[in-house]
Amino acid sequence: MRPLATLTLVAVLAGGCTGREEHATPHPEEPGLLHPRYTLTMDDLMRMTADLPPGIREGIQADPVTFLSKLDEVLTLWEKDPALFLLVDKSHGLPPDYEPEDLVPLEGRGLALARPGLMLREKVVPDLIRMAEAAREEGVELVVGSCYRSYERQAAIYRWEVETYGKEAADRESARPGHSQHQLGLAVDFSPIEDRFADLPAGRWLAVHAWEYGFSLSYPEGYEHLTGYRYEPWHFRYLTPQGTALEKEFFGGIQQYMLEFLNTHREELYASRKPLAQTGEL
Ligand SMILES: [Zn+2]
Repeated sequence: MRPLATLTLVAVLAGGCTGREEHATPHPEEPGLLHPRYTLTMDDLMRMTADLPPGIREGIQADPVTFLSKLDEVLTLWEKDPALFLLVDKSHGLPPDYEPEDLVPLEGRGLALARPGLMLREKVVPDLIRMAEAAREEGVELVVGSCYRSYERQAAIYRWEVETYGKEAADRESARPGHSQHQLGLAVDFSPIEDRFADLPAGRWLAVHAWEYGFSLSYPEGYEHLTGYRYEPWHFRYLTPQGTALEKEFFGGIQQYMLEFLNTHREELYASRKPLAQTGEL
């Protein structure tokens, strides 16, 4: 197995940053740093957010201190776990031999399971259990339908979809091998995996509460142009509660925007970060 640290973590978005300057908000104190822990200026932040939709970009630029504080929590977690916020989508894949080291079976944990043999990364399980218990207290049963999927399993599913529905339909519904979030061991499909899930009690409950437990809807309605996938109300990726708090407050709750931002600017963000000893916090 290849350690994930050797993967290329820097996602290159088509076109990259434009460097386009905008002067909607004057900053009389410039040149000034935005946050005690980062050497970033407003110009840096404007450049890094230039590709985001206007509403999201303006929200970040309006409160850079809160943004960088919440971002810092995410970067701290990511530093210890390179797969945690890694962008895996139609254009960013994992190597065939990538398999998480801490996969655990879900049996015997008090979770409702649609079938035996389901596995997730260990760090997902406590928040999944908390979420299922909270739903149950409100009379809603969350049934776990599908979790970790190996590269070989993805390849078999994709082959079957192409043979059954044709290549175009298969590409909208199912990931090419190596391009599924399920290979990360961080994604959960809740059961039933059907369009009507959105209107079932579990689907409605998750749409409101999942973020509180660190789970993010990966393929929301109306974002196929962005994610490459049609609406999947049952598919959630674990991003930790710190990750979903950042996603909700500053990325409009849209996972793809946040993960593209993090993966595109990863090196620059860490390079601009001062060691704790220099910030007076230690
Ligand atoms: Zn899924």
